[in-house]
Amino acid sequence: MANSKYEYVRAFEESDVLLPSTWIVIRIDGRGFHKLSAKYEFEKPNDKRALNLMNAAAEGVMKELPDLVLAYGVSDEFSFIFHKDCTLFERRESKLVTTVVSTFTSYYVYLWPSYFENKPLFPPLPSFDGRAVLYPIDRILRDYVSWRQVDCHINNLYNTTFWALVQKGNMNGTDAEKELMGTVSSDKNEILFSRFGINYNNEPEIFKKGSVLYRDYANTIATSSSFTTLTTEPNLPKAEETPASAPESSEMPIPDEPPAPKSKTQAAKEQKLRKRARIAIEHVDIIRDEFWMQRPWILS
Ligand code: ATP
Ligand code: ATP
Ligand code: MG
Ligand code: MG
Ligand code: MG
Ligand code: MG
Ligand code: MG
Repeated sequence: MANSKYEYVRAFEESDVLLPSTWIVIRIDGRGFHKLSAKYEFEKPNDKRALNLMNAAAEGVMKELPDLVLAYGVSDEFSFIFHKDCTLFERRESKLVTTVVSTFTSYYVYLWPSYFENKPLFPPLPSFDGRAVLYPIDRILRDYVSWRQVDCHINNLYNTTFWALVQKGNMNGTDAEKELMGTVSSDKNEILFSRFGINYNNEPEIFKKGSVLYRDYANTIATSSSFTTLTTEPNLPKAEETPASAPESSEMPIPDEPPAPKSKTQAAKEQKLRKRARIAIEHVDIIRDEFWMQRPWILS
């Protein structure tokens, strides 16, 4: 567009380029979902349809943004992780956050009727907020996802016990809350088991562990001949090639020279592979090393 005398207003825009070579976590959270879950009569404490809808919306986001390496969701929140070397939108924070939030929201609303057939949406419509947080090393990024999964466990144990007292113990909310005040995990497990015959360990994994989404190259069906050659690229190891101990990039020796940037063709090949990969949705422990050791490509 031609210059105009109004162009100068552009200079008022602030730069919000995120630090390079740093993991970008974008966490989104449903606005007022306590109310929304009552409005559409979500089952308490965990409505499976609502969780599956969150996961389906997150899968849509992963598909549309190949730079995402992992997503973790629980309740009305999802954390999306962009690779530390991602250059999407020149790493501009507002572009990354708003694109993730709006893509997620679009899918959530678009897919709603498939999960809540007889409960059509009407205003006020679901919306989500979002923020970006940077994590400089793999260890801290893993601590971030561990933090979310521990939070999932603590909240779920509390909610499961609270709703058992209300739904099965005929207590009102205030009394149930009082009953649980000052209790530790073992007390809640004991209440569930002795009063209601519920073994918390047998609760569905999706409730206890939340949902993790990642690109599953090993189980992606080859759709073209180039796929087989591409999977041998060193940056995207197959599951079978898992080394006994995956080196953490933060512990790598400091090279004398900065690493050579990837060639354009190499980057394009990898991007194509990411786009084509199947998105796995699992409800597993992501705190212990096992998950990461078995899927070394996620953080590579
Ligand atoms: P805010 O706008 O501040 O985020 P909020 O009402 O969304 O407020 P959160 O702390 O985000 O509060 O909690 C989300 C709430 O949504 C939960 O407390 C729970 O009541 C409800 N919720 C979310 N997902 C489900 C689900 N799958 N099944 C039942 N209830 C759910
Ligand atoms: P980016 O993702 O960088 O924003 P973009 O393709 O959206 O890329 P914009 O600079 O935002 O580029 O321009 C929007 C483009 O969308 C316009 O150039 C035009 O081609 C098209 N467009 C938007 N609204 C209309 C419309 N009402 N009718 C026809 N074309 C439209
Ligand atoms: Mg435009
Ligand atoms: Mg919030
Ligand atoms: Mg919320
Ligand atoms: Mg929340
Ligand atoms: Mg545009």
